[in-house]
Amino acid sequence: MAKIIAIANQKGGVGKTTTSVNIAASMAATRRKVLLIDLDPQGNATMGSGVDKYEVAHTAYDLLVDELSAEEVIQTETSGKYHLIAANADVTAAEIKLMEVFAREVRLRNALAPIRDNYDYIFIDCPPSLNMLTVNALGASDAVLIPMQCEYFALEGLTALMDTIGKLAQLVNPSLQVEGILRTMYDPRNRLANDVSDQLKTHFGDQVYRTVIPRNVRLAEAPSFGSPAMYYDKSSAGAKAYLALAGEMLRRQESGAITQLVTE
Ligand code: ADP
Ligand code: MG
Repeated sequence: MAKIIAIANQKGGVGKTTTSVNIAASMAATRRKVLLIDLDPQGNATMGSGVDKYEVAHTAYDLLVDELSAEEVIQTETSGKYHLIAANADVTAAEIKLMEVFAREVRLRNALAPIRDNYDYIFIDCPPSLNMLTVNALGASDAVLIPMQCEYFALEGLTALMDTIGKLAQLVNPSLQVEGILRTMYDPRNRLANDVSDQLKTHFGDQVYRTVIPRNVRLAEAPSFGSPAMYYDKSSAGAKAYLALAGEMLRRQESGAITQLVTE
C-alpha cells in the first residue's frame, strides 16, 4: 500500500514543487511505483512533469469536486516515469467549491483509497497556503515533508508551521507524522545558512534529513524543459541530491523511524 506524503510549507518559493517533481522522479528511478498529485492551481509540478496544464483533460478539480475516479484523472505519460494528477487554474475553483460539499476535508483521502494499492509512494505538491486544498492533502497523507530555506527567521516560521499543521492534523488526521524537514537551496558558503542549519538540527534532531539540496541552477532550469533534473542533467548536483534523498527516505522507512506530529 502506498505511503502518502504531502510536501507542504505555507511559504511560497521554498522548493515544494522542485522537491515534488524530483523526489517523484528519483523514487520512480528506484523502480518504485509513484503517483504525483499537483494540488497547486499554478500547475508548476504539472508543467515540470512534461504535461501541458492548458491541454489536460482532467485535473485534481475533477477528483475533488466532480467526483471522477482517480483512475479517470491520472495521466500515465510524464517525463519522469511516474503517474500524475494534474493541476491548473481550474483547481482554484475547487478550493471554493469544497466549502459547500459534504465531508470536504476528506475528499482526497476518499478519492485515493481505491488506487492506493497500485503505488509505493504518492506525493502531493501543496499550494503555498493553508487552505482547503492543503487541508485535503494533510487529511489524505501519512506524513508531511517540509522543505525550507535556511534563512533568517526560518526557525520561527517552521515552529509556527509545525504548530499549525499539528492543529489541522488533530482535526482531520491525528495519525499524521512528520516525514522530514528538508533543507533546500542550500549554500554552504553562506554563514547564516550554516548557523540556521545548526539550530535546525539542535531543535528538530532526526526530523531533519541528512541530505541537503544545494542551490543548483540545473534544478531551476529543468522545469522549462518539462523535465525532472535527472533527465535534464543527470550529473548535476541537484539531480544527485534528490536521488540521495530518495535513498535516505527508503532507508528511514525500512528502519521504521517514526516521528509523531500530534502528541496528545
Ligand atoms: P515552491 O513550490 O515552494 O513555491 P519552487 O520549487 O517552485 O518553490 O521553487 C521556487 C523557485 O526556486 C523556482 O524558480 C525554482 O526553480 C527555484 N529552485 C528551487 N529549488 C532550487 C535549488 N535547489 N536550486 C536553485 N533553484 C531552485
Ligand atoms: Mg510550488
